[in-house]
Parts: sequence; C-alpha cells; structure tokens
Amino acid sequence: MPETVRAACVIGWPVEHSRSPLIHNYWLKLYRITGEYRREAVPPELFADFVKRLSARGYVGANVTVPHKHAALVLSQPDDGARAIGAANTLWLDGGALRSTNTDVEGFLHNLDACAPHWDASLTKAVVLGAGGAARAVIYGLALRGVRPVVVINRTPSRAEALRQSFGERVRVAHWDECDMLLADAGLLVNATTLGMERQPGLVLDIERLPGHAIVADLVYAPLRTPLIAAAQARGLRTADGLGMLLHQAVRGFTLWFGKKPLVTAELRALLEADLTGSTPGPIGIT
Ligand code: NAP
Repeated sequence: MPETVRAACVIGWPVEHSRSPLIHNYWLKLYRITGEYRREAVPPELFADFVKRLSARGYVGANVTVPHKHAALVLSQPDDGARAIGAANTLWLDGGALRSTNTDVEGFLHNLDACAPHWDASLTKAVVLGAGGAARAVIYGLALRGVRPVVVINRTPSRAEALRQSFGERVRVAHWDECDMLLADAGLLVNATTLGMERQPGLVLDIERLPGHAIVADLVYAPLRTPLIAAAQARGLRTADGLGMLLHQAVRGFTLWFGKKPLVTAELRALLEADLTGSTPGPIGIT
C-alpha cells in the first residue's frame, strides 16, 4: 500500500513572503516524514470556501497569515488564546471539526524561555510597545505567566485602551513621552510595533535607563538584528529576537499536523538567517 502523504500549507494573500515552508519542509526532511508543506495564495473572497474544503484538498491543517487571521477564527472552533487575541494563525482538522489556535503566544513565550531562562520568576513590570495583533498575543502570554503590570504604549491610544478593556487591570496604558521614566524599573521591554522593520520608520527609543537585569524582545525579524536588539546587546542585556519567535511559533502546527514535536535547532535558525540575509547557509546535515 502506498504511504499516505500528509500535507499542510500556509494560506495568505499574498503568500510568497512566508518563511513557513522553509521551516516545515526542513523538519519534514529532518524527521524523514512523508509529508508536504505548500504555499496557497487565496484571495479574501475565496478563503471561506478554501477552508471549508481543506480536507477535500488533501490538507490536515494550515497556517493562516495576512489578511485571513480573523476570518480563520470565525470559521473554526478557536481555543481560549485565539479567542482572546481575536485572531487564529493555525488550523487543524480534529475528527470532523476544524479547530484553531494562535501560536504567536507560545512562540513569544518559548523564545523568551530559550533566550532568558526563568525570566518570568521575578519579573515585576513589562513595557509593550504596540497594540496590534502581535501585541495582543504578547500580552495574553505575559498574563499566562502572571506578569503584572503590563504597560502598553501605542501611537493610537484608543487601541491600547481596547487592550486594557480586554485584559483587565493587569494592563496599564501610557504615552510615548512617559517611556523613559517607565523603562527605569522595567524587567522586560517588547517591541510589538512595525517600527524598525525594513521599509518602515525606525524605532526612536533610548534604552539607557533600563536596569541591567532587563530583557529586550523585538518581534521584528527583518532585519535580523534590529537597532533595538543591537542597542540592548551593546549594553549587555539579554535579548530575544523576532526570528526566534517565528521559529518557536511553528512548533505547535507541525506537531498537530505531522505528529512529531520538532526542535528549534541552531541549524534551522542558520537556514532562516541565510534566507533573510540572502547569504548561503553552511552545510545542512539533513539528507
Ligand atoms: P499590526 O496589527 O498592523 O500592528 C502594528 C503596530 O505597529 C500597531 O501598534 C501600530 O500602531 C504600530 N505602528 C505602525 N506604524 C507605526 C508608526 N509609524 N509609528 C508608531 N507606531 C506604529 O501588526 P502586527 O501583526 O501586530 O505585527 C507587528 C509586528 O510584529 C510586525 O513587525 C510583525 O512582522 C511582527 N510579528 C512578528 C512575529 C514573529 O513571529 N516574530 C509574529 C507576529 C508579528 P497604531 O495602532 O497606532 O497603528
């Protein structure tokens, strides 16, 4: 009997930019799993039909990227995290049910765990820049680990206020001009804005006042080493970068679809770094 090929995909519009195929196809090869992971360019008006016929198209699940993350939530049975964040980025078929989650939460947390072990044990205050979908996932994750307060600073204050309403008194809203003062006793600073990303405005922020034990996380992964991460490293602070989060968020989907919990290895990271910087990776030890 021929072996069944399990397949998953990333659905987006556009979708060419997605690095998910590189990650999942690396793991499929590494663990010698007969499976496939593809890109599916699906416009918004066809998304609902595509998802309803996921199984008929031969898929056991999918990643979902811009602009479909809210639609994915609505069309599936989301877990608590996806519901609280208001967006789903991972779908899987569970018997006849289409279920969903948002793996940015564990991507953020597990990357921090890897970069700064036991970071959550003594954290007294976190400052989060941004109030979009990624900031929501970060705040949900920080709440899971019991961090409070989480001070949210955003260009559009009403979006930060909406987060406070969603997550309760754990969240405090502040303004950019208070940032310097707030950093003085912060244990964690997270950039969850698009500032510092390639082709976007830079993040103008002085981190000199952050305490020496503070951790700096930047969700932006293009460029690989953002000015914020570079400034934090120059000060000797612990850092967690956006590529690490991207890799860790992929673990859950692969586990759900292909039945194997994969490792985020240095070799996989090197493969993605090479892709992001346009350089050639070193020899990859998979056959
Ligand atoms: P989003 O929902 O569009 O939110 C964008 C955020 O950036 C908002 O808070 C927005 O403020 C702020 N912003 C944009 N331009 C700004 C400017 N000129 N000045 C000040 N603030 C500005 O995007 P998202 O999905 O949350 O993603 C945010 C970042 O996280 C992106 O760089 C994305 O690539 C990254 N991300 C990384 C991962 C990972 O795995 N590493 C996962 C998810 C997201 P307003 O509310 O005022 O517009």
